[in-house]
Amino acid sequence: AAAQLRRRLESELEDIRGAGTWKSERVIASRQGPHLRLAGGGAGIINFCANNYLGLSSHPEVIRAAVEALEKFGAGLSSVRFICGTQSIHKDLEEKIARFHQREDAILYASCFDANAGIFEALLSPEDAVLSDELNHASIIDGIRLCKANKYRYKHMDMQDLEAKLKEAQKYRLRLVATDGAFSMDGDIAPLREICQLAQKYDALVFIDECHATGFLGPSGRGTDELLGVMDKVTIINSTLGKALGGAAGGYTTGPKPLIDLLRQRSRPYLFSNSLPPAVVGCASKALDLLMESNAIAQSMAAKTQRFRSKMAAAGFTISGKDHPICPVMLGDARLASVMAEDMLNRGIYVIGFSYPVVPKGKARIRVQISAVHSDEDIDRCVEAFTEVGQKHGAL
Ligand code: PLP
Repeated sequence: AAAQLRRRLESELEDIRGAGTWKSERVIASRQGPHLRLAGGGAGIINFCANNYLGLSSHPEVIRAAVEALEKFGAGLSSVRFICGTQSIHKDLEEKIARFHQREDAILYASCFDANAGIFEALLSPEDAVLSDELNHASIIDGIRLCKANKYRYKHMDMQDLEAKLKEAQKYRLRLVATDGAFSMDGDIAPLREICQLAQKYDALVFIDECHATGFLGPSGRGTDELLGVMDKVTIINSTLGKALGGAAGGYTTGPKPLIDLLRQRSRPYLFSNSLPPAVVGCASKALDLLMESNAIAQSMAAKTQRFRSKMAAAGFTISGKDHPICPVMLGDARLASVMAEDMLNRGIYVIGFSYPVVPKGKARIRVQISAVHSDEDIDRCVEAFTEVGQKHGAL
């Protein structure tokens, strides 16, 4: 059986290579940040592909907070939360997250993937319906698969389609509309005002995944709901501690207290997985303190995003989305995206090409992600490299 399994796996791996969708991992030999050293050479690489939007992953105060939490509270809990895995820092962080989002309560998970895997099954039953944007993140799709509610998939950001499906779903007890706040492949933002209006009209609840919004979208960085003026209309938020909020790991749900109480009783990734390690809690807690003190970091990121988007447009590139630090440079052809990304790295700019099946056929792109800790020179060097490489490969 072992030999048979090995043959099957090797053939599957060969198929992946043959399809050109093999994902290889570059090894980084330095901290996460705007400038990286790659293992086996490559120093001084400018990094444009982390979700380190606010540059907090290696912020000295965030690192210090992690070290202090590690020393005071230890390496980890060796327990799930409800047995003997809850420390004061876990409760403090949950309170801080709820305060940040202006919600009643919050619950921590090991990741936002887990938060998404745990919410739908705990909340929805066969009497209910869930309506999900077709381009939602894989973890929302998987979380919805695990629940027994009636499932509807509406066309990406298509309000007519959502309305038609809400009408169909009127026969169920409860309707939940689930959408990413900001979509990570296109850098586009869900039309939450319209979604909330429809939700009101058809008596539905709204859930948003804010992984690519928390900490920097909206006047005080609260996210897409703040940006679009619907903080009081979105009922449930899931987000991550592993991107803008320090970048360590962890996720959460924040919303009405009875929902959070229920998740503590029923949500399987919460009940059956270890507590977040103290150092990770320390990082996220400090990141939130920094963001609640001042919005300067988010504003600096927004200014750099603007600089990159406008200079790239002036150079003749098409950048998808609007105002978001995810800046997909649209190229169309998969091979072009892959060779251009490789050539960018040869010029010291680390970016990644995405093609089918991660994005639709014919919509290959290089995704650039801007961080508050990029300097104006970093941004300009990136635009210059794109221009050279784009001219060389006939993309301009
Ligand atoms: N949701 C979205 C939209 C994401 O982009 C990601 C991460 O890629 C996740 C959820 C999962 O977050 P985490 O890394 O905390 O599991």
